[in-house]
Amino acid sequence: MTVATATLTKVPNYVNGRWSESSTREWADVTNPATGETIAQTPLSDAAEVDAAVEAAAAAFPEWRRTPPEDRIQPLFKLKQMLEEHVDELSRTITQENGKTFTEAKAEFRRAIENVEVACGTPMMMQGYNLEDVARGIDEMMIRQPLGVVAAIVPFNFPGMIPFWFLPYAIATGNTFVLKPSERVPLTMKRTFELLDQTGLPKGVVNLVNGGKAVVNALLDHPKIRAISFVGSTPVAKYIYARAGANGKRAQCQGGAKNHVIVLPDADMQMATQIINDSAFGCAGQRCLAVSVAVTIGEAQKTFRDSITEAASALRVGNGLDQGVQMGPVISPQSKSRVEALIAQGEKQGAKVVLDGRNSKIPKYESGNFVKPTILDNVPATSELADTEIFGPVLSLIHANDMDEALAFLERSPYGNQASLFTSSGAAARRFRYEAPAGNIGINIGVAAPMAYFPFSGWKDSFFGILHGQGRDAIEFFTEEKVVIERWGKEHSRKF
Ligand code: NAD
Repeated sequence: MTVATATLTKVPNYVNGRWSESSTREWADVTNPATGETIAQTPLSDAAEVDAAVEAAAAAFPEWRRTPPEDRIQPLFKLKQMLEEHVDELSRTITQENGKTFTEAKAEFRRAIENVEVACGTPMMMQGYNLEDVARGIDEMMIRQPLGVVAAIVPFNFPGMIPFWFLPYAIATGNTFVLKPSERVPLTMKRTFELLDQTGLPKGVVNLVNGGKAVVNALLDHPKIRAISFVGSTPVAKYIYARAGANGKRAQCQGGAKNHVIVLPDADMQMATQIINDSAFGCAGQRCLAVSVAVTIGEAQKTFRDSITEAASALRVGNGLDQGVQMGPVISPQSKSRVEALIAQGEKQGAKVVLDGRNSKIPKYESGNFVKPTILDNVPATSELADTEIFGPVLSLIHANDMDEALAFLERSPYGNQASLFTSSGAAARRFRYEAPAGNIGINIGVAAPMAYFPFSGWKDSFFGILHGQGRDAIEFFTEEKVVIERWGKEHSRKF
C-alpha cells in the first residue's frame, strides 16, 4: 500500500455514468510483472464510495427493468463491436498488468466477447413457461424477473474475461451492476468501462468501484445488493459465501483449484505432451484450469515424463509483449517466492526436481517475477504439495498402477475444478467422464474451459453455490422466478 503520487495514473471509479477520483488516501501499486515497473495506482475505496455506486444502481433499476429485453441488449451489440475493434489494445493492457503473453491475452478477450454474444440471446433465454387449464379455466405461468442491484468481485488472473461471466447477463436480464476488479489489475476494466460508457447504457446501470477488502465487505453488507458473484481463492470464496448468505443474498462463489490429468499408456503421447505442456505452463500456470498434477499409468510414467520435460524446457519465457515469447512471469515477487518455496518443500518431502525453473533471470527483465517451467517427479500422493494450489508454472508427476488408483487421487483432492484424461479408449473415457469428481471434464483436452453457452462449473472447494457463471445458469442466477395462477370467470368473457 502506498500514498498517491502525482505522476502515476490513478485509476478512477465509474459511478452513475461519471468518472471520478476516489477520495481515499490508501492506494495500491499496479506493477508490470515482467518489468517490475509501477504503472498505475488503484484506490482502496471505502464504504461510502460503494454506497454511492449501489444507490446509483438502485436508482437506475426501476426504469432499466421496464426497458424491453430487446432494447436492453442493443448496447451489448454495440459493446461487442467496440471490443472487437479494441481487442489488441485491451490485450496489451492485460499483458502489461497481468504478465500473460499477448496471444494468451487475446484468447482471453475472445472469451469475454463470446459472453457478450451469448447474453444477446437473453430475450429467448429469459422466457419462463406456462400451462393452460391446470384446473378448469385456470392457467399457470412462471415468469423470470430481475433481482435489482447485483455485484461481482473478480480475481487478477483473467482481468478481461471473468467480469464478462457476469456483467452482460446481469444487465441483459434487467439488473443493475457494480463491479470490483482485482486491485492488482484494474486497467483492463478501466478501459472496458470507457467503452461501455459509449454504448448508450443509461447512467447507473453499470458501475465500477476499485479497491480491496473494504469494498468487498461494503458490498457484502449493503442491504440493497441482492446477489454476489465471486471468483478467486477458496478461503475468500468461503468467506464471501458465508457473509453473503448471512446477509440474505444469493451468491455464486468460484474458488481455487488443483487440477489432475490422467495419462494412459494408450494416449497419443505427442498430442498429450503438447496439450498438457500448454495447460500446465500457459499463463505461467495461473489459470484456474491449469493442469497441476499429471498421474501417469503404466509405461506412460517414463514416456510422458521424458516428453513433457523436453517440451517444457523448450518454452521461451519472457515479457509477454515480445515476439515469440510463450510464457510470461507470475503476478508478483511474493508469488514468485511462494512458488519457489513450494518447489523446495516438495523436494524436501521426497519429490525429484527433473526441471528446475527457480532463480530464473531473463536478460533485460532482471526485475521481472519469472519462474521457468518446473517439473517434480514422484511427488508423494499424500504430501502437502499434492494438495496445495501452487498457481505457478509447476507440474507434479505421480504414478499410479491403474485407473482405480488414479481416480482415488482425484477423490482425495479437496478441489474439483477440472479433471482430464488422455487416452484412445472410448471405454476408459466413458468411465472417467462418469466417475471423475470435478465440474469441468476434459477428454484429450488440457484446459476444459466451457464455452459461454455452457456453465463454468466447479465442484467441492472450487465452487460454493448452485448456479454457475455463463449461459443459462447466469440467466437463472440473475433472475427470480415468479409463479402466477390466473382465473377469469365466464361472466367476464361474456361481458365483452
Ligand atoms: P483472491 O482470492 O486473492 O482475490 C479475489 C478477489 O477477492 C479480489 O478482487 C480481491 O480484492 C478480493 N479479496 C482478496 N482477499 C480478500 C479478503 N481477505 N476479503 C475480501 N476480499 C478479498 O484471488 P486472486 O489471487 O486474485 O486469484 C487467484 C485465485 O482465483 C486462484 O485461487 C484461482 O484458482 C482462483 N480462480 C478460480 C477460478 C474458477 O473459476 N474457479 C477462476 C479464476 C481464478
